[in-house]
Amino acid sequence: MALSTLEQKLVGLVAARETELREDLARWVAIPTGGGHTKGLDAYRQIVTGRLSALGAMVRLEPGDQRPDWLNDSPNSDAESTPPPTAVCVAEGDGPRIMLCGHLDTVHDPAGPFDRLTIEPGGQRARGPGAADMKGGILVAVAALEALHAAGVRPAWTFALNSDEETGSYCSDRVLRQVAAGCSVGLVFEPALPDGSLVVERPGSGQFVLEAFGRAAHVGRDFSAGVNAIGAIASRVLEISAKADPAAGRIVNVGVIRGGVATNVVPERASAWGNARFSSAEAERELAEAIDALATSTEAMPRVSVKRSFARPAKPMTPGVERLAMLARRAAEDLGQSLPFGKTGGVCDGNNMQAAGIPVIDTLGVRGGGLHTSEEWIELPSLVQRAQLAAVLMHRLSSGA
Ligand SMILES: [Zn+2]
Repeated sequence: MALSTLEQKLVGLVAARETELREDLARWVAIPTGGGHTKGLDAYRQIVTGRLSALGAMVRLEPGDQRPDWLNDSPNSDAESTPPPTAVCVAEGDGPRIMLCGHLDTVHDPAGPFDRLTIEPGGQRARGPGAADMKGGILVAVAALEALHAAGVRPAWTFALNSDEETGSYCSDRVLRQVAAGCSVGLVFEPALPDGSLVVERPGSGQFVLEAFGRAAHVGRDFSAGVNAIGAIASRVLEISAKADPAAGRIVNVGVIRGGVATNVVPERASAWGNARFSSAEAERELAEAIDALATSTEAMPRVSVKRSFARPAKPMTPGVERLAMLARRAAEDLGQSLPFGKTGGVCDGNNMQAAGIPVIDTLGVRGGGLHTSEEWIELPSLVQRAQLAAVLMHRLSSGA
């Protein structure tokens, strides 16, 4: 299939704005949106929703849900106090409703020195916080919608913009699933794999903590009266770690252990924090059951409690995902681009959206790399290329392709 006249027009409309898009990106990257920086998130959200409301979208802010309390004690929590809202922008139009999704937050320290877009010699690459993950991606989506609008194409779409993806989307999960349930397909603009690949399969992910409560005692004077909480945690860490079997789609990593106060005191408290990844609902159930089984009764001594939150379900390849990915690949090929398919061990909001029952492809953003480091870069030509791809794909989706 070749590009239609209308699609050629979309391609031209995006290409004509290359300089403008690079300027947008520089402005967006300079707004600090890492680490729950509310002021920056609010400012950036306003800019993006402003662009979408100019296309006729109705914008509403959905309040964020509170994260489970115990996750705020997690060693890798940023302990956000106020859950950030999710912006939901709804445009009426033709064809099946398309959900677009992007996260405004980055992982970068808002007060750190990595704070702006720097174009590298040659002009093909630029470094900047969130340049690829995923301010570049959000810009790709916005530019595609703007091109469609300018060409008079009116797909029905809902664009959800959350602010807590990098910390697990606990505050926005409910809204994302609600929006997804009212749409037919989902497009997420996370960065592509470095070679431009589209991720078509992801594992799910969950957090857990084991806490052991024993009895303190002086080792020299009263050893027998003590009950060692570290021992209780240690045996369970070994037990749960043995469930890891990457080939069977199960990963378990206990990454942080805490416990005890001094070598001559029997430790009363100990805890272990872990992350589980699973390739299917079945693997998720197996790991969840194994983790839950580590708990003791409330009267036991030592007592062990388990808390877990498996908030990102596995995102397997389904017939719907395959169809959507093939549609994207054909659009890419018609544009003279290639779109290989790939897998990753990472998770994103596409997991949660697909769990709500719609097929989702989630790496339609820019090409780049060095994600989550101060080397994060974007391949600048991919801004235009990916916006062209998104525009043609949405046009085909809306016309029933
Ligand atoms: Zn991301």
